[in-house]
Amino acid sequence: MQNLFFILHKFGFYWLAFFGIIIVRYFLIAGGAYWFFYSVMGKPFVKRRLHLKPIVWKSIRQDIELSVLSAVFFGLCAAFIMSAYDSGVTLLYTSVNEYGLWYLAVSFVAVLIIQDAYFYFIHRGFHHPLFFKWLHYGHHRSGDPTPWTSFAFDLPEAVIQGLFFVGIVFLIPLHFITLIAVLMTMTVWAVLTHVGFELFTSRFWFFPQWLGKCFIGSTHHAIHHHKYRVHYGLYFTFWDKLLGTHDPSYEGLSNKKIANHYVSRGAGNSEQGD
Ligand SMILES: [Zn+2]
Ligand SMILES: [Zn+2]
Repeated sequence: MQNLFFILHKFGFYWLAFFGIIIVRYFLIAGGAYWFFYSVMGKPFVKRRLHLKPIVWKSIRQDIELSVLSAVFFGLCAAFIMSAYDSGVTLLYTSVNEYGLWYLAVSFVAVLIIQDAYFYFIHRGFHHPLFFKWLHYGHHRSGDPTPWTSFAFDLPEAVIQGLFFVGIVFLIPLHFITLIAVLMTMTVWAVLTHVGFELFTSRFWFFPQWLGKCFIGSTHHAIHHHKYRVHYGLYFTFWDKLLGTHDPSYEGLSNKKIANHYVSRGAGNSEQGD
């Protein structure tokens, strides 16, 4: 009985601590990006505006409310992972020597590839007319994304996304550094893809064009928020290209043409069906 009380007490401590960390991370990174890029300071970095309509405070407030609610569940996931680690049942480890230095990089890339595939298929499922309203509507409610949208999920979506991390620590040996690096990459990537502006002159970021075409950036994901039926990936364009959900006009368009494309087609093309 005392043992159970101790476990619950520790679980509660973990939940509270991680809820705090997740919230602080959200306000620092999403809030910081909003504060910077939507003020005069960010103007020199903005190459193209991706919004179809002016941003309204109500949408931002709704995104923040959903993000805080999602953080409650993400905190529970983190508490579960830590409790499982304490019990020695996860594949998390702390000594780099256990698998070598090279494995840190390999496992980092592997988790991103697996998460991208997981996200692509659940995201396509979310857009099915049967599920959209109660699984994914919250994320699309603002129409035009802002950094605040990056973690705005309906609770069922937050559960499905959070379960990825609960599962992965039982499937692949991961150093804590790798896990933190994946979480930080996911956070920064989500904020950048929802920032509402293209920040790079080329749509393919700072990579050589052939490599850049493999990655998802702000313009790519803004098209998803405007057109719904294309661009379901998280980090890479691989699954969209393979399964025919890549907007065929995306890669052939010059920056100027994309802006026109937005004005003429974006607003009127908001269907959620898959
Ligand atoms: Zn979506
Ligand atoms: Zn989004």
